[in-house]
Amino acid sequence: MTLNPPGQKILLHVCCAPCSGAIIEKMVAEGLRPTLFWSNSNICTAEENARRLDVLKPYAAEFGVPVVEDEYDHGKWLEYVGAELSGGRADAPSLGSYPERGERCAACFRFRLMRAAHYAAAEGFDCLTTSLASSRWKSLEQVDEAGRAAASGVPSLVYWAQNWRKGGLQPRRNEIIKERNFYNQTFCGCEFSLDKSHENNK
Ligand code: SF4
Repeated sequence: MTLNPPGQKILLHVCCAPCSGAIIEKMVAEGLRPTLFWSNSNICTAEENARRLDVLKPYAAEFGVPVVEDEYDHGKWLEYVGAELSGGRADAPSLGSYPERGERCAACFRFRLMRAAHYAAAEGFDCLTTSLASSRWKSLEQVDEAGRAAASGVPSLVYWAQNWRKGGLQPRRNEIIKERNFYNQTFCGCEFSLDKSHENNK
């Protein structure tokens, strides 16, 4: 598989090192030099956010790609996702009642990718993609929909809807996790996913 990004200056939103390791390796091997954008306020504690980021940083440095850290504000994430799902209704279902791949996750992707799109606009990036779509626990359709919506608000920014599970990247991803002994979290990130953690949340 040869990569064909729709722009020159690539902002790669990164959700964690396990999900992004093979993507970064592939991009760099093809002469692309993405900037990694860490924006994961969905993660329920600052400690967990820092733990995941600390796995990414040395890996990114090895490949010579910069990491930009967005502010971490889980309260803001809760507020946004809550407002999106309740639509102002007092009797709206609780956030914990939604399953993974449900509407809570769609809103979560919108929050994170909108922040990435705002950064892209400010810094002149013309291409946005995300490692979120590489996880088999995520809905590719939800991720791509959120990415397109986020990029649509920024003139000259295009969302790169690459399927990062294809072209051998899924097995390579698993190899890298083992080779590097990456911390591979067993829950997605928010407190609601803690209750439903899986054996190997890839
Ligand atoms: S389960 Fe994951 S994708 Fe869904 S809302 Fe929680 S952190 Fe976001």
